[in-house]
Amino acid sequence: MKIAILTIGDELLNGDLADTNTAAIAGILISHSLPVHEAATTGDRETDIAAALQRLAATQDAVVVTGGLGPTGDDRTAKAAASAFSRPLSLNDKALQQIRARFRIMQRSMHPANEKQAMLPGRSTVIANHNGTAPGFHLQHHGTELYFLPGVPREMLVMLKEYVIPSLLERFPDPPLFCQQTVTVLGLPEPEVESRISSNPLPEGIELAFNVELPAVQVKLRAKGKDARKLVDRAELVVRKALGEYVVGFGNETLAAATAKHLISEGLTLSLAESCTGGLIAKLLTDQAGASAFLERSVVTYANSAKIDCLQVSPDILEQHGAVSEDCAVAMARGVKAASRTDIGLAVTGIAGPDGGTEDKPVGTVFMAMTGPYGERVERLHFHGNREQVRMRTACTALDWLRRQALQQISDEPQED
Ligand code: ATP
Ligand code: MG
Repeated sequence: MKIAILTIGDELLNGDLADTNTAAIAGILISHSLPVHEAATTGDRETDIAAALQRLAATQDAVVVTGGLGPTGDDRTAKAAASAFSRPLSLNDKALQQIRARFRIMQRSMHPANEKQAMLPGRSTVIANHNGTAPGFHLQHHGTELYFLPGVPREMLVMLKEYVIPSLLERFPDPPLFCQQTVTVLGLPEPEVESRISSNPLPEGIELAFNVELPAVQVKLRAKGKDARKLVDRAELVVRKALGEYVVGFGNETLAAATAKHLISEGLTLSLAESCTGGLIAKLLTDQAGASAFLERSVVTYANSAKIDCLQVSPDILEQHGAVSEDCAVAMARGVKAASRTDIGLAVTGIAGPDGGTEDKPVGTVFMAMTGPYGERVERLHFHGNREQVRMRTACTALDWLRRQALQQISDEPQED
């Protein structure tokens, strides 16, 4: 069984928009053991769309198409499908009713241009869109299933799950099982991750892949066939054992989600004092629903005056050691913990660059301090990369300190890269 994805839109070809639909669709299909064989993108020209549809329909068993179903002149997908498969457009009553119903729900009057969205190629089945005005449609051409969905990810994904996946599984029942597990690792470089895993044999039939999601390394464990689940579960145990405390999450769980989970389960409260990260640590933690269960505050103290006012950092420390110093980081962590009365206070102060580095403290120098129920920890770290990378690496290292604090795992090995 061969499945292709076709995404449509000039904005995908001219660099205005990153094609996230392909990745999202492929991820959902593979989770149902429906691997994608090919992905293609075309612009908005009708002849280009029609040519891509004909080529994919001739070589694939199913094609999932997104984009170009809107009411405007640059939305030409239905017209291109009509010409590619010689099925002239006609007004589809069911589609028109759905568009009208949608406008009633939104309490808006329908623009005449929206009627165009009900003009579908002959013998199409309408795919309902409960979150937008553009109905999707499904047609068959010489045994190939073609599904046309809107480009808007939020609308498209619901239609994929509600209609396309059940339809594909009905057409291709019991596809050979495909299983994958992702293990996220932090604090070890990629080759070290690989050599630690390879010293413990993995079960036969496991395919191993690595993916660097800076600053983490993702280990992908894949297997096919009827024992795929069992093999992946066994391989996960081997990887857990080989990498121990460096494993920060499984599957889709991010480092921030794992950190939040451990802080909540240990009942620990947290306050942050951020300088060079400008609130990034708090951002990553508050991306997690329920962060209010542990995060009391994060204070962004950029200027020296803010460190003195908000965190009671002594002016002497700033004068003698500077804001980017071990003493300042410790004073910031203590200050925010005292003001908020949380279990843990964590502070970062550093030089994210590109300017501000000195011989003694080059760009990428960061001091991190944490004071909590298991004592105090402060370290001078050095991170490589541009401003964005230094900030992200700093924030991820802070999350890892918190995760380890919650698990009472304090590593002696350096966390920097
Ligand atoms: P609309 O009614 O909004 O015009 P449509 O089906 O015509 O819907 P497009 O016009 O192609 O879809 O895209 C609408 C919006 O959906 C784009 O502006 C973009 O934000 C998003 N989008 C479209 N295609 C993709 C894609 N491949 N990846 C991510 N986002 C996309
Ligand atoms: Mg459009």
